[in-house]
Amino acid sequence: MKIGIIGAGLIGGSLLLNLAEKNHSLYLVTRNPNTRKQAEMYTTATSDSLDILKECEVIFICTPMHKIIDTLDKLENIVPDSAIVTDVASLKSFVMEKKRPFKFIGSHPMAGTENSGFSSAFKELFQDAKWVLTPSENIKSKDLNILKELIEETGAKTILLDAQTHDKAAALISHMPMLLSQALMKCAMNNNSALQIAASGFRDMTRLSMSNTEMAKDMIDMNSTNIKHALEVLQVSISELLKDDYTNQIKEIQAFRKNMYDEQGKNKL
Ligand code: NAP
Repeated sequence: MKIGIIGAGLIGGSLLLNLAEKNHSLYLVTRNPNTRKQAEMYTTATSDSLDILKECEVIFICTPMHKIIDTLDKLENIVPDSAIVTDVASLKSFVMEKKRPFKFIGSHPMAGTENSGFSSAFKELFQDAKWVLTPSENIKSKDLNILKELIEETGAKTILLDAQTHDKAAALISHMPMLLSQALMKCAMNNNSALQIAASGFRDMTRLSMSNTEMAKDMIDMNSTNIKHALEVLQVSISELLKDDYTNQIKEIQAFRKNMYDEQGKNKL
């Protein structure tokens, strides 16, 4: 297949490295001349212009979230209506708002690290990860299946959700935890004794405070309503935990958590 990738950062770069091992022609749009040089060996063409994507059958937009609408608008004048276009943004409602002439299917790989840029990309990133798809209503199952099969070539498992459900869930399991991790680090930063004795538990709880700054800001700005709601739910959970029967409640939580991940740490649900 002729596949276009826009933006060779952690996600776009990892996708490029992964798909380069399969039987596809890859077209990379990158603004970075160094990335262009490094990526030449994996691609049929690289450029800083979207024009090289004219003949692509599937296109992945892997830029920061706040650049995606602009890129989708520009693609309207470049790619044919037959092209399947997807994005990888951590939020899905905002990309689904406008009807597009091409076949647009929102998507979100549930994989990442705190690093960014092409130098942090690695081909195994998507292995066994969930990859959410949010197709618009007019998408035919034939086209959805083309994208599903391509994504599953990376080792990911696709899952269909509507965009609003995705954004609420992402607030609960990703965006609120990142904010809590940052807040926890901020609380401890001025307490030298606490910092001196902090060990692996604190390290694990504050890992998400190292998230990509630009992405973190986009999440907080663009999903604020769902994050506020998730914080309210969290407050209720804390109150319930501390009210009564703490021991039985945490036993139930531990049993649930134990069944959720396998021995390699992969989500079994
Ligand atoms: P990243 O490593 O910073 O990569 C983003 C890439 O987009 C940059 O390397 C750059 O590529 C391009 N870019 C940056 N600024 C741009 C601009 N102003 N205009 C056009 N292109 C620009 O970030 P990432 O982690 O790959 O995130 C990319 C997308 O994936 C985001 O929408 C994010 O929400 C989503 N996502 C991230 C994660 C995660 O954990 N990191 C997980 C799932 C989804 P070039 O230098 O090649 O132009």
